[in-house]
Amino acid sequence: MNDPTERRIRRIVIVGGGSAGWMSAAALANATNGNCHIELVESAAIGTVGVGEATIPPIKQFNQQLGLDENAFAAGTGGTFKLGIEFVDWTRPGQRYFHPFGQFAPDFDTLPFHQYWLRERSRGSPVPLQEYAMAWVAARAGRFDRPPADRRLVLSSFDYAYHFDAALYARHLRRYAEQRGVARTEGEVVDVRLRGEDGFIESLVLKDGRRIDGDLFVDCSGFRGLLIEGALGVGLADWREWLPCDRAVTVGCTVGTELPPYTRSTARPAGWQWRIPLQHRTGNGHVYCSEFMSEDEAATTLLAHLDGEPLGAPRLIKFTAGARRQFWSRNCVAIGLAAGFLEPLESTAIHMVQSGLTRLLALFPDRDFDPLLAREYNRITRAEYERIRDFLILHYHAQQREEPLWRHTRGMRIPPELQYKIDHFRCHGGIVAEPFELFQNSNWLAVLVGQEVWPERPHGLLELRGVVDAARRLAGIREVLEKAAGSLPTHRRYIEQHCRAKIS
Ligand SMILES: Cc1cc2nc3c(=O)[nH]c(=O)nc-3n(C[C@H](O)[C@H](O)[C@H](O)COP(=O)(O)OP(=O)(O)OC[C@H]3O[C@@H](n4cnc5c(N)ncnc54)[C@H](O)[C@@H]3O)c2cc1C
Repeated sequence: MNDPTERRIRRIVIVGGGSAGWMSAAALANATNGNCHIELVESAAIGTVGVGEATIPPIKQFNQQLGLDENAFAAGTGGTFKLGIEFVDWTRPGQRYFHPFGQFAPDFDTLPFHQYWLRERSRGSPVPLQEYAMAWVAARAGRFDRPPADRRLVLSSFDYAYHFDAALYARHLRRYAEQRGVARTEGEVVDVRLRGEDGFIESLVLKDGRRIDGDLFVDCSGFRGLLIEGALGVGLADWREWLPCDRAVTVGCTVGTELPPYTRSTARPAGWQWRIPLQHRTGNGHVYCSEFMSEDEAATTLLAHLDGEPLGAPRLIKFTAGARRQFWSRNCVAIGLAAGFLEPLESTAIHMVQSGLTRLLALFPDRDFDPLLAREYNRITRAEYERIRDFLILHYHAQQREEPLWRHTRGMRIPPELQYKIDHFRCHGGIVAEPFELFQNSNWLAVLVGQEVWPERPHGLLELRGVVDAARRLAGIREVLEKAAGSLPTHRRYIEQHCRAKIS
């Protein structure tokens, strides 16, 4: 048998110093405990995408695994807290709903709570689903506190994530990684040398002629995918037929008096606009489809709908929705935009960096690079991208807007797995989610109901349950949630007390 110390990975080279690059550097430095040389190459001349300001709850675990202090992290990144996303005008102009983090009301019977809510609705109750989610009741009141650990308390039923300045997050992690021995090299990679016998990456060549050797290469070079695509040519699964938006114009604006603890996404004639409140500015962007709108129109629309004064001119970013056909090929693993990009509608890109790194650590190779490891990595990563893709498509497909983009996405043929989920909900309000999916029952429920997909008949058991006084139960739940939300500090007060921005 080979001596395992002989076969261990000795040098990891990361290309790219955006959020993906520095998250990779921090996670790998933390995991390898100083026993592996880690070098990150980045080029100031090329720069980073620099947006990526809204996240989803699992990011808390990423930061915790690194041992980051939450208050210091929020203060260092201008961070605020996020309880979910408000969708405005998505189903049709004038309609709005909330996708909350955490759970809806607890079940009070064999049947899930939402079956009773659907029945009350069909009997004429006007109370929206979100009124039964702790996250929304707190968000609507502009309040926030960390949920308590005691699962018996209603305040423990919500979850939260962050809004932060992506460039400051990368800076925060850079400090962390460098303190743990990661070497940073400034320079532009102009060539990738492959080994003759097996096509593995051997070294990178920089513009000034320097050469960087490695055993494992992590491609965090952004959309271009310098190694995974440029050198290894794995190909891209292009998903524009379902997610046709291909541009975003972005701009920051001044902060108003309010500090909402949630992201807002407002549908526009050829796309949608985000609003992400940070401590020191509000992030805004207009994602649109270039087939249906010009850049000038997109920028004008963006600027016409800001809550504050713009801080500079809008910046254009082009992208293609899709994912690499392989994320791990030979001795190269692509993380971040180099691996794929689904538009930022549900704030999943930074999460995909985190989940790629978690998977890489779980399947960490030695220098034999057993192909089984890459196969498993690719299998799970593909499934994860596809299910998130379907969740995003649901927003575009199930709606009643009349502009050409929206008529197109309503009429398009959708992936069969998504059709299956929609059919089930239409059938009897049932939700079909795989255990490994990022978005679980409560997420699908929020968006299916929010986008007004309604069941054709009640669940078969509902009428057999006898007298469950659902109306009284539901009213009781609302009362408890309202009272609990009232006990929380305002979001602004919470930040003032715990993590007021200290940006250096
Ligand atoms: C419009 C838009 C909105 C987004 N909003 C969100 C959001 O709200 N939430 C979220 O989670 N994510 C969001 N994202 C995604 C998020 O911005 C990215 O996932 C995240 O920032 C990671 O980017 P990256 O590090 O992979 O790439 P980049 O930021 O592009 O970094 C690439 C790095 O590679 C380096 N590089 C490239 N070529 C070379 C070379 N030849 N030599 C040396 N270095 C090189 C560059 O210098 C740079 O450091 C958004 C993305 C877009 C486009």
